[in-house]
Amino acid sequence: MGSQTIRLGRLFGLEIGFNWSLLPFFLLVAWTMATEVLPSGAPGLSSTEYWMAGVLGTFVFYACLLAHELSHALVAKAKGVKVSGITLWLFGGVTQLEGEPSRAQDQALITAVGPLTSLALAAFFFGAQQLLPGLNAPPILVTLFAWMALLNLVLGAFNLVPALPLDGGRLLGAVVWWRTGSKDRGTTGAVRVGRFFAYLLIALGALEVVAGGLLNGLWLALIGWFLLSAGAAEGRQVGIRSRLRQVPVAAVMTSPVPTLPSWLTCGQLAESGGRGAGLYALHGVGGEMVGFLPRSRVDEAVRAGHPEWRLEALAVAAEQLTTVRPDEDLEAALVRLGPHLEQGALVVADGQLVGTLAASDVARVAALAPLLGPRPQD
Ligand SMILES: [Zn+2]
Repeated sequence: MGSQTIRLGRLFGLEIGFNWSLLPFFLLVAWTMATEVLPSGAPGLSSTEYWMAGVLGTFVFYACLLAHELSHALVAKAKGVKVSGITLWLFGGVTQLEGEPSRAQDQALITAVGPLTSLALAAFFFGAQQLLPGLNAPPILVTLFAWMALLNLVLGAFNLVPALPLDGGRLLGAVVWWRTGSKDRGTTGAVRVGRFFAYLLIALGALEVVAGGLLNGLWLALIGWFLLSAGAAEGRQVGIRSRLRQVPVAAVMTSPVPTLPSWLTCGQLAESGGRGAGLYALHGVGGEMVGFLPRSRVDEAVRAGHPEWRLEALAVAAEQLTTVRPDEDLEAALVRLGPHLEQGALVVADGQLVGTLAASDVARVAALAPLLGPRPQD
């Protein structure tokens, strides 16, 4: 989770947090409910009562968003995909998966359950709202439930728009993947359809502005523009990934393993430039191995004002590092490494350490990717 993220706690073994960008939107929703929605649905109450109900309603709305994300996360876990956490932001949530499902059916299931959860919540709130008046519930509660039904309906329906990075786009990608057997073709197909929907939204927004609905029009166009740029980013990622699949780990690893004397200080290594490797082996005075050192730890120590620390103090044992094979393709290795790439990985063949793989090695290939031959499709 980034520095913009505030930790909320753990739920079902998952780290839950929220991003600061959520706060203005939270206030906007609460304000809309307290000053417009609730007073028109249940007139005659004090503004304090409207605000209390509005804030409560906004909390319930974010709980619904969380339920949507939790459903993605729990199905992903059940399908063997590691989940690092859930972050709520601006007007939605993000479930961070470490790695990806290997089967199209699993991807489809993990994706579809989110909008289905939102639609089920909409049905629940709609049903409750129909029953409440018969139970003599106050009108403000009925209005609140009606709005929760509407918001969840919009959330479920909007997420089903087949444009990446929305669930609908991912679902479309999974279906194409299923039918064609090619994951890349699934994503490129979804990117293409998404682009169409994005332009459609922008065009509708422009029409709305011409027709006099400035604010609504701007919102539509803004969402369209967001989908357009997010979809393009996903498309670029597919391009890079399919090229990474053509490159074996052996072609980019640092080999032989770069070694450093363990008694050097972080400052000395930083000044010397450290030969640019991402992961080093450390040797002691007698030439014996004492462990491994991710370069990122040295940079952190220097930034934290400890250039005098000796490298051996920052060493990690081989068992703490992920191992990859030299004949493995880079994409498979990266999916397995996930966020551990920052530490680097050991490249081992037949029980022998033959090299190291770190983010800097991968960055070199990613930068060269456009030169690695034609794009497989597009
Ligand atoms: Zn979703």
